[in-house]
Amino acid sequence: MSQTEHRRARPEVSVIIPVYNEEAGLQALFARLYPALDALATSYEVIFINDGSRDRSAALLAEQFRARPDATRVILLNGNYGQHMAILAGFEQSHGEIVITLDADLQNPPEEIGKLVAKMRDGFDYVGTIRMQRRDSLWRRKASQVMNRLRERITRIKMTDQGCMLRAYSRHIVDTINRCGEINTFIPALAYTFAQNPVEIDVAHEERFAGESKYSLYSLIRLNFDLVTGFSVVPLQWLSFIGVILSMGSAGLFVLLLIRRFVIGAEVQGVFTLFAITFFLLGVIIFALGLLGEYIGRIYQQVRARPRYLVQTILEQRNGETIAATPRQSVVQAVQPAQIMDQGPNS
Ligand code: UDP
Ligand code: MG
Repeated sequence: MSQTEHRRARPEVSVIIPVYNEEAGLQALFARLYPALDALATSYEVIFINDGSRDRSAALLAEQFRARPDATRVILLNGNYGQHMAILAGFEQSHGEIVITLDADLQNPPEEIGKLVAKMRDGFDYVGTIRMQRRDSLWRRKASQVMNRLRERITRIKMTDQGCMLRAYSRHIVDTINRCGEINTFIPALAYTFAQNPVEIDVAHEERFAGESKYSLYSLIRLNFDLVTGFSVVPLQWLSFIGVILSMGSAGLFVLLLIRRFVIGAEVQGVFTLFAITFFLLGVIIFALGLLGEYIGRIYQQVRARPRYLVQTILEQRNGETIAATPRQSVVQAVQPAQIMDQGPNS
């Protein structure tokens, strides 16, 4: 840890907010978030991670950094790495004793942060949340229900509402997560595996303030795959189980056909049934290969041990001096944030 980091006072609360193409809602977020945090009457820092937005989000964040440099830090990633990876980047830069994650779209009301902080002060090290009256489309709610139930059955993670990102984690949990080299992960679940004293509370939920969901059906499926394969090998065990049942079945069928051939003679009419069985088995094999590939892909990613993301710039205040530091620079140069703000979309 560098000297400057030692000198920086540790705030009690760090709020981590991933931002991806949220220009339409950011002003409203700032307008509600900072007063809500000021009302807590404690020290805090807000860490925004720009996840490679292609709109003006980065410029708006830089503007906000200039407005509140004492309590704001901005991490600009050089591409789109996904919500959970962006939060990991925020975790690594956070200093707070209580670390809170929040969505940038105001679906998690910032006014609820106080409730989470209060619970953490009560001695819990993980505060999970349950959205009362979730304001999302019907299919999203149904799909979440199904995924929640599936996760409940195949992992040992107990969460009522896995999708809500407004959560609080202790410094210890965040430090432990920072030590993990996971590539595809699901933060609430990963944090849960390290929690010693978790609790869940109800929180309000609102409709997205502006813009639309950044998750397509495909990315939702990917995310849930991360959750299932990242925290359980049960799918692999099911696979072997299905494999055993199928091979026993086929062995039985083979014996039957053999006996039939000697007793009644070769069958012709049954050819198409055999075709059907063959194709069924082919399907099963392809599915199995896909599932295996899913795990092998992860092993491949893990063994490459690449850096999980690259930070382009960090806007933060050190010793009262406003700087934009590129971490790779050995001598930190003072760069005017205006240089970053001047960048238009797609730059
Ligand atoms: N997000 C991100 N990178 C992505 C997708 C989303 O940083 O690739 C952020 C997004 O800006 C928002 C949060 O993650 O702050 C949740 O995204 P969204 O509201 O689109 O998800 P939903 O509420 O539909 O689950
Ligand atoms: Mg949302």
